[in-house]
Amino acid sequence: MVAGAVDPWKGKRRQLIEALQDKGIKDLAVLRAFDTVPRHLFVPETTRHRAYEDAPLPIGAKQTISQPYVHARALELLELTGREKVLEIGTGSGYQTALLATLASQVFSIERVGGLLDGAKALLAELGFRNISFLLGDGTLGWRDYAPYDAIVVGAGAPHVPPALGEQLAEGGRLLLPVGGRHEQMLTVYTKREGQLVARDITPVRFVPLVGAGGWPAA
Ligand code: SAH
Repeated sequence: MVAGAVDPWKGKRRQLIEALQDKGIKDLAVLRAFDTVPRHLFVPETTRHRAYEDAPLPIGAKQTISQPYVHARALELLELTGREKVLEIGTGSGYQTALLATLASQVFSIERVGGLLDGAKALLAELGFRNISFLLGDGTLGWRDYAPYDAIVVGAGAPHVPPALGEQLAEGGRLLLPVGGRHEQMLTVYTKREGQLVARDITPVRFVPLVGAGGWPAA
């Protein structure tokens, strides 16, 4: 994405990709997306030296950018082909938004914290992404104007599936959501089959809470 000058982070980024492969990520399109999106630009300057560790990092407003392995696993499960319309809940740093925009056709991303959304929006524009639309608000209500979505990715943990998200998922589409308690959840993929959501448990995860009408009350 960053044109011109030699990228001093390339080596570290390659090491991260090898670490992801060692942990079982095989999808080449996903691995290529990790190679093109500069994660160091999505974390605060104070933690930049750790940007390519396979670890979650704080991004301000008590939120975190997820561990790259968790993003990679999520993206692999979505099996994107480049033609999909994707809804993302919890823009956060915008890093996963960039990965999604690289792997799908159109991304609609909702964030409830204005400061985070503004930062992500500015950075993604600077990096040249033109296929992302942003909304400040409660993502548990979805974004009805552009529904249905081929994939919906929720970057925060919910007590149950927010009903609006189930409704706004296309037939055959996939919804990825950490479901469970405030501090620990099961990453779950729901596939819509004949109007019903069919669940598959993937792995235990720890996401920040999804706060909103179809999620948790604000703490
Ligand atoms: N994938 C992001 C993860 C950010 S953490 C990244 O890599 O940076 C989860 C984000 O979800 C936080 O920014 C939080 O503010 C946001 N969030 C929580 N509840 C939300 C809701 N109801 N609607 C939209 N965003 C929400």
